[in-house]
Amino acid sequence: MTVEGTRDVGTEPTEVLEWWRNGERHLGTALGRLTDEEFDAPSLLPGWTRQQLLAHVARNADALVNLLTWARTGIETPMYASPEARAAGIAEAAALPAPHLRAEVLAATRRLADAVATMTGEAWSAPVRTAQGRTVPAAEVPWMRCREVWVHAVDLDAGVGFADIPEDVLAALVDDVFRMWDRRDQIPDLAVFAGDREWGTGALAVAGPLPEVTAWLTGRTAGEGLQADGPLPQLAAWL
Ligand code: ZN
Repeated sequence: MTVEGTRDVGTEPTEVLEWWRNGERHLGTALGRLTDEEFDAPSLLPGWTRQQLLAHVARNADALVNLLTWARTGIETPMYASPEARAAGIAEAAALPAPHLRAEVLAATRRLADAVATMTGEAWSAPVRTAQGRTVPAAEVPWMRCREVWVHAVDLDAGVGFADIPEDVLAALVDDVFRMWDRRDQIPDLAVFAGDREWGTGALAVAGPLPEVTAWLTGRTAGEGLQADGPLPQLAAWL
């Protein structure tokens, strides 16, 4: 029960909000390392230039603002009007001159931060639907952004790697990968070990430092730096 007029912070995803704020700063650092001339080059994500990736990051922030608006108002506001609209939005922003695109990424992040600041306990627990069609409480939205900014900061190929991601966030990324496999009923036959953490109960044991484990499970490497007692399997795409 919430007393009228008080803010119910019980449903506010406090820890994830902290990870997310740090992640936006981290992405800003990666962005700051790139000159305008370097925007028009491949990212580490196959088929994506840095411009396209940054355009996606900007439009993703606005899409998540839509979900927070939906949670706050109860008026259905999907992330994207359609897959075509999503692609068109990315193409449009990717065509901006580098200084404009840079400013647009930061402006979209500010719009998301402003939307987060207006959220109440009640709004955080309101149901919204993701672009993948899952119904989740709005409290999931900061995590949806968190994984984008930390991982795409690496994808930008700006000298930032998985080893620069805090351990708690890395572990949460691995949790996310396993949850996704579970939802799709495609958990590979793996048991993964990193320090004193472990995931899965499958037959093939894979061990390594948490950054290398996370990079492999999120599809960013072929498993460099990992030890396994057999060949590593081809993993299903994460996002
Ligand atoms: Zn993304």
